Amino acid sequence: MTATERKWETEWKTYSPEETFQIGKRLGEKAEKGQIFCLSGDLGVGKTVFTQGFAAGLGITEPVNSPTFTILQEYGEGRLPFYHFDVYRIGEEEEMAEIGYEDCFFGDGVCIVEWAELIRSLIPDSAVWICIEKELAEGFDCRRITVKGNKI
Ligand code: ADP
Ligand code: MG
Repeated sequence: MTATERKWETEWKTYSPEETFQIGKRLGEKAEKGQIFCLSGDLGVGKTVFTQGFAAGLGITEPVNSPTFTILQEYGEGRLPFYHFDVYRIGEEEEMAEIGYEDCFFGDGVCIVEWAELIRSLIPDSAVWICIEKELAEGFDCRRITVKGNKI
């Protein structure tokens, strides 16, 4: 049996894409070198909206979209280098090595990984996990955002 001690956990509810963007932006403003944020949640739940806010919080003004077909998109204009992964279409974890993910995970910037659960074994224990779920009982645009990991 193993137990994982979680130092910190919090939950938000948002009722519009703008609110999810603002949560991402707040975390982007506080982000520090070496942090990895793992986003999990179904297609269309708001992972990219969150990421767009996060990028804005880092001071990135160029458009941020899901890099689904490239897996990795890098942005250099912000306060820290920003590496945006979307591993939805990854076939095998080895593809991550081919992309050179280690230079991003253990480099000078911050990373967001959409669909991080698909490459679970590559994610360091220090990563912050952010789970976004639809909360349909509270309306079509309601999302529950749970953040677990080290204090951010
Ligand atoms: P994902 O990256 O998880 O596949 P996207 O961020 O691309 O999802 O898309 C989320 C969609 O859900 C957008 O069309 C967005 O406008 C919509 N949406 C509605 N309500 C919310 C909310 N509270 N937070 C985030 N997105 C929302
Ligand atoms: Mg996306």
